[in-house]
Amino acid sequence: MNAVENDCRAALAEYDPEVESALRGEERRQERGVELIPSENYTYPEVLAALGSVLTNKYSEGYPGRRYYGGQMYTDAIEHLARSRACALFRCEHANVQALSGSPMNQAAYLGLLEPGDTVLAMDLSHGGHLTHGAPVSHMGKIFRFVRYKTDPADGSIDFGELRRVARETQPRLVLCGYTSYPRDYDYAEFRRVADEVGALAMADISHVGGLVAAGTMRNPFDAGFDVVTTTTHKSLRGPRAGLVLCKKELADTIDRSVFPGLQGGPHMNTIAAIAITLRKAAEPEFTVYARQVLANATALARELLARGARLVTGGTDNHMMVLDTAASFGLDGKVAEETLDAVSITVNKQIVPDDPRPPLRPSGIRLGTPAVTTRGMREPEMERLARAITEALASAGNATKLERLREEVEAFCLGYPVPGIARSVTVEARLRAEG
Ligand SMILES: *Cc1c(COP(=O)(O)O)cnc(C)c1O
Repeated sequence: MNAVENDCRAALAEYDPEVESALRGEERRQERGVELIPSENYTYPEVLAALGSVLTNKYSEGYPGRRYYGGQMYTDAIEHLARSRACALFRCEHANVQALSGSPMNQAAYLGLLEPGDTVLAMDLSHGGHLTHGAPVSHMGKIFRFVRYKTDPADGSIDFGELRRVARETQPRLVLCGYTSYPRDYDYAEFRRVADEVGALAMADISHVGGLVAAGTMRNPFDAGFDVVTTTTHKSLRGPRAGLVLCKKELADTIDRSVFPGLQGGPHMNTIAAIAITLRKAAEPEFTVYARQVLANATALARELLARGARLVTGGTDNHMMVLDTAASFGLDGKVAEETLDAVSITVNKQIVPDDPRPPLRPSGIRLGTPAVTTRGMREPEMERLARAITEALASAGNATKLERLREEVEAFCLGYPVPGIARSVTVEARLRAEG
């Protein structure tokens, strides 16, 4: 940490010890535990610096060169950088970088491209679609009419015959690709053909795999002629919490007006600076090495879990994540599995499986992913250790003594892999030295 950051933290510690102590606790938690939630990552120290900067003081409603407030010489430069880097990285014609997170990014896209009551063809939520893809509990699900396509749980493939039938019958205005719990890649070209056949726009929400697409290690929907692509910036892309709406140039005005003034007010310029930094990082050769390792680690983790008797939905993974059917493999629902792994400092989330017979808060599985552990420098041998810890813990659910021993093992192992942006405590350094 530099002197200013040190001063900021010292001032916080002195002024509000309750918040400071919770923040320190969260640092220790992130350092000691294994983070396997596939939508989480550890961002760069440079991003943390931008997020905690004076850019948070500035109002910049509007877009570069067309703002409602004065004093924009630096904010304009920053937003230009973020937009041009996004276009270069994702090979698109226009980028809006102001969406405050993933949900508003998708809301802005729907509200800009559609009229209330229009039909959207999207992935079934239990087969991998996201809440923001028209879940009945979401406002978007009430404003627009979402119809669904599904996957074949045996291999994860999409039944395009059935998808075409639904598309012809329901005449969607928008065909939406994208997932939050689907361990395979998409054939975007086939989705584009279906959209063309019914005169619909094609949109992909690549939030989970944004970093893997940016690195060129997974398919890019723009290569298949998609109209709009959205992505969060804080998952595999490893940046701040925000969203990008990327599109063809003929939709640029529609999208920009939909984000501001349609949906949001002042953009968060500290976040936009952090996005610019993230996109510069993602264009470097090291990031491609990272993205390849995320995929290699997911393959290795899936292989080891399968070898130890775990059942994975679709039988494996083509991306950074997997869905483990804990009910079928260990006789545990996802909630108990999540709590059991929490007890050994391995963080996952409970997850519904396709057409899950169980309720969402006690679903049949858990979801695991490798972006965060890869950021800490773990590779295939470490995935073997993790698979062993996961299956041993799940097989020992309810055995407090066994779980406690496993937790100590997991935490000692984790401390060998530093977390970017967290200054190691004196006790951690001493313990690592003692362990040689
Ligand atoms: C995470 C995610 C979002 C929502 O992002 P938030 O920042 O949590 O609002 C939207 N779509 C998909 C596919 C996601 O995975």
